[in-house]
Amino acid sequence: MKTLVMKFGGTSVGSAEAIRQSAEIVRTAQAQWPRVVVVVSAMSGVTDALLKAAHTAAAGDADTFRSIAAELRTRHFTAQSRARAEVLAYLSEFEALCHAVNVLGEASARALDAISSLGERMNIHLLTAYLGLIGVKAEPIEATELIVTDDHYQSANPLVDLTRARTQARLKSLLERGVVPVVTGFIGATEQGVVTTLGRGGSDFSAAILAVALDADEVWIWTDVNGVMTTDPRIEPNAQTLSELTFREISELAYYGAKVLHPKTIRPVVERGIALWVKNTFNPQQPGTRIVKDNGHVVGSIKAVAVIRGQTMLTVEGRGMLGVPGVAARTFGAVARTHTSVSLITQASSEQSICFTVPAAAAATVIAALRDEFRRELEQQDIDDVSAMENVTIVTVVGAGMRHTPGIAGRIFSALGAQGLNVIAIAQGSSECSISLIVDAKDGDGAVRAIHGLIAS
Ligand code: ADP
Ligand code: ASP
Ligand code: MG
Repeated sequence: MKTLVMKFGGTSVGSAEAIRQSAEIVRTAQAQWPRVVVVVSAMSGVTDALLKAAHTAAAGDADTFRSIAAELRTRHFTAQSRARAEVLAYLSEFEALCHAVNVLGEASARALDAISSLGERMNIHLLTAYLGLIGVKAEPIEATELIVTDDHYQSANPLVDLTRARTQARLKSLLERGVVPVVTGFIGATEQGVVTTLGRGGSDFSAAILAVALDADEVWIWTDVNGVMTTDPRIEPNAQTLSELTFREISELAYYGAKVLHPKTIRPVVERGIALWVKNTFNPQQPGTRIVKDNGHVVGSIKAVAVIRGQTMLTVEGRGMLGVPGVAARTFGAVARTHTSVSLITQASSEQSICFTVPAAAAATVIAALRDEFRRELEQQDIDDVSAMENVTIVTVVGAGMRHTPGIAGRIFSALGAQGLNVIAIAQGSSECSISLIVDAKDGDGAVRAIHGLIAS
């Protein structure tokens, strides 16, 4: 039977009015699809607030988490008064967890997951209550019952076979009875039942995991913009909605910072031929963006521009590096041991330096790991230094047609030059459908706008 999985993001369920809109969308879909599964995020800003509470509690502050609990109570009560009992139960769990963290003086990754999971766990009750009011049969379900993950807290990976078995077993009879499961995004649990999260923005990924587990036909990601756009409309108000994007293009955009879709969402869905759409909760009659398989038929050149802020650029360099075997492997081995992901790598053709970016928060740990790895080479001055350039931004230009269009890099550099914007380093994505530039943080938005000006409208 035809199955539709719909995911509502934080803004789409972030207020009483938004919940009403989303619920109407569910009602309409349910009239047209025999099986509908809904995935919900926490209300916008709630996950940030929960994490802030955990971190302040760990740092010795016993007050902030209590005031956050009070704010969350008011916000959830205001949005939907029929789920008060559930909200209160979760908030008392929240205070107990924060109290424990406060006493211990430390928030482990596992504790952070337990605490940050609460936003989604509260929100399924808000939406379900409203759906009940408008006559849609729905049941709140915690994804801890469905999605089995490894224990890589804060960015857990789903175990596909176990997840499939549990999801089908748990949801089958509900779906057969025409009940809409309203499932928490963002979270799962280990085989032992310990709560995990899939990484920030992970509710999109939850929808993909459930769609695969249920052999769904379509996934609709409901958000607060008309679809995937030529760039973040918060940076460039002239950004346009794209009606269609290939799997590769959206993957590069998502990987390089376009928050509109979590990067892990796309592959599992598109590979199985499940249709993937991004749509606007507040403008549901708009068609949105359809993500399609690469069909070899490419249109246009530059399609979209994405940006990742808050990066530090690290350089390992030295004239003696040419003679040192395996420098690149050792460099990235050392980085991997710190569990840091590298966003971008460039190597000068002279092979005398390797340059890459990491999130600023991880830079000090990574530098220490590199100095440790290359202690001998640093002493012998085969490697001169591991240096850091702080406050850089990665701007990525995406378009499957770029490789067939000569002179793209030249046009990008001219556009930036005309605005007096300096490029620190450049890298071409391996798929040849993206080019990334490292610029100073203060130039990031200007670079996005300058490059966006090259997109033919
Ligand atoms: P949700 O809570 O619905 O998942 P997110 O805030 O995670 O929403 O993602 C939607 C936001 O992504 C938009 O409001 C927009 O500001 C931002 N965004 C960044 N790049 C793009 C892009 N290329 N197209 C559309 N939105 C983008
Ligand atoms: N609520 C989670 C977050 O803020 C997951 C999501 O919104 O997708 O990261
Ligand atoms: Mg999101």
